[in-house]
Amino acid sequence: MLVVGGGPAGAALALLLARDGVAVVLVEHGRAHRSGPFETMLASARALLVRCGLDDVVAAAAEPDPLRHGASWGSGGLVWREPEAGGLLLRRGPFDARLRAAAAQAGAVVRCPAQVRADGDAFELRGEGGEERLHARVVVHATGRGGVRQRHGPHTIACTFLGEPDPADRATAVVEAVEAGWSWTHVPPQGPAACAWFVDGALDPAVRRAAVQQAFASARGPAARLRDVQLRFANDATPTVADAVPAVLSLGDAVATADPLSSQGVEKALAAAEHAAAIVRTALGEPACTERLFALHRRWELGLATAHRGTAQQWYGREDRFAAAPFWRARTVAVPSPLSLPEGHLQAASTLTMQPVLVRNGARFARVDGVRDSATGDERSHIGYVPIAPVLAAFALPRSLGDAVRQAGTDARLFVLPPRAVHAAMLELVRLGWLVPTGLARA
Ligand SMILES: Cc1cc2nc3c(=O)[nH]c(=O)nc-3n(C[C@H](O)[C@H](O)[C@H](O)COP(=O)(O)OP(=O)(O)OC[C@H]3O[C@@H](n4cnc5c(N)ncnc54)[C@H](O)[C@@H]3O)c2cc1C
Repeated sequence: MLVVGGGPAGAALALLLARDGVAVVLVEHGRAHRSGPFETMLASARALLVRCGLDDVVAAAAEPDPLRHGASWGSGGLVWREPEAGGLLLRRGPFDARLRAAAAQAGAVVRCPAQVRADGDAFELRGEGGEERLHARVVVHATGRGGVRQRHGPHTIACTFLGEPDPADRATAVVEAVEAGWSWTHVPPQGPAACAWFVDGALDPAVRRAAVQQAFASARGPAARLRDVQLRFANDATPTVADAVPAVLSLGDAVATADPLSSQGVEKALAAAEHAAAIVRTALGEPACTERLFALHRRWELGLATAHRGTAQQWYGREDRFAAAPFWRARTVAVPSPLSLPEGHLQAASTLTMQPVLVRNGARFARVDGVRDSATGDERSHIGYVPIAPVLAAFALPRSLGDAVRQAGTDARLFVLPPRAVHAAMLELVRLGWLVPTGLARA
């Protein structure tokens, strides 16, 4: 198996599969990661890391986050979060290198710095050790934000500065909203502080420079007190979705990037590695299902990116002091109204078929009875713990939601479940477009 890209997603996937004895080659071109000197991982990520079997490796590659976290958001005051043990400070570069070293220790062949290019049905690797050719049954792109992409949110530029902090601000991390945008300022116990301003990406460079100056001038947190400020780099931080490449398994930022305000990109990358490891284990045993499994992973990633977008929108929605400013206007999109209950009768979309579907079962995917939507390729067996097939069977004849819940209660597969859960599953099927008003069945 060939993994191209040795950031958190690629390195963790290589590690997980090498532990299983899969022959993995991980290729990393070794260019510097373009964010601030620090990224953070919330303590809440720990449960996920334990579940993925990555907690020890990640804890050894990172360091405990010693910073007090606060926010100046929605009002001029600075609100400190309750101290929380278990958060991590990631020095990207060393962090990624340690994850790659752990993959190598588990048996993966790691080439860094190295380049890879397709050559017919083989791959040509070029690195410090010279050139080599290899064949791979599974090819993985964990290459981050490159490639052809569509925007999944407002165009945003992150301008990262280093500066000398005020001693009183030491050991803090503050997120701060101002009229021109918002910032993360990390002030470590020693050394320079980093401040990333996220501003409107549509501004031309001169206007953007003025916007950042205005942002520093109007800040009240640690960003306001930085001295000898130097721009380190400016990079595109727009949430994006990459085009699908059917024969390749893409993961992490190579599929979709989260809005930086949700600040869980590394957590998302590691969760994606764990999901992708189950996909690859299954694909190696069932090569005929490979593309279907890769598409399943992509849908999983896009679901996660959408969830992160929701988190970011909630944050933007909480800041109403600058509602008229262009940066904030573009980000406070109208919150979608709660699903309006369809009136009249519903029926199953005509694109659905009952068939065995692939669902996660521990370290692999297994076939269970379920439903597949030929319009989207989406396949599912359950909504939460409610099996979908008998719920759809309740709409064998067009029915109202209320009648269908009563009908479902007569089905042995559903009557043990609370009617409220069955009703909630029906609403989710309406949201998915799997239950449609009578007469609107999708072609
Ligand atoms: C300004 C900013 C601040 C952020 N702050 C945080 C934060 O505080 N916390 C957080 O969790 N997330 C944060 N993120 C998001 C986080 O950086 C990413 O989500 C995360 O790095 C994604 O991991 P990845 O492995 O998918 O991609 P990447 O980390 O981008 O890794 C991709 C790897 O592939 C390599 N590569 C690319 N192309 C090739 C090729 N052709 N051949 C070989 N190698 C290749 C690259 O060198 C890189 O090492 C931030 C992002 C930005 C932009």
